[in-house]
Amino acid sequence: MFKYCPECKHETISFVNAHYLTCTECDFLYYHNAAAAVAVIIKYRDEILLTVRAKEPGLGKLDLPGGFVDHNETLEAALIREVQEELSLTITPSQLRYFTSEPNTYQFKNILYNTIDALFTVELESKPETFCEQSEIKNILWIKKSELNVNDLAFTSTKAAMKKYLK
Ligand SMILES: [Zn+2]
Repeated sequence: MFKYCPECKHETISFVNAHYLTCTECDFLYYHNAAAAVAVIIKYRDEILLTVRAKEPGLGKLDLPGGFVDHNETLEAALIREVQEELSLTITPSQLRYFTSEPNTYQFKNILYNTIDALFTVELESKPETFCEQSEIKNILWIKKSELNVNDLAFTSTKAAMKKYLK
């Protein structure tokens, strides 16, 4: 991940268990902790809303709306923001139900991030108009629960959560 210690500039830095950076020359220590992320299963009758990823990782694969939680942001606020950004769909905190959490790994520009994904559900009374305005999403699909293949999902966390949800 790094060749030189950012503190003492020696080539004495090591990345232990892909979790922390430590230097044997000085007392530099940096924890590459799990990042918080959110995703939502949006349901209308027997259909679930899925997005098609336009970027790596998981280019062309199915995904759930969601993303990384910003600093000083709640899980709920992050999810509402991401759904607005990705789908132009407004959801309220009272519509959100916490469902489960799953760990995930996310490879981005040669760095492996470990995330902890919090999954929520939203049940809609009517099918909303959605607009795919984001460069990260190629398409928005409604797929019947009975026709959804969990292996078409991009990430291990969403695969596991969806398996649990469809049971
Ligand atoms: Zn050092």
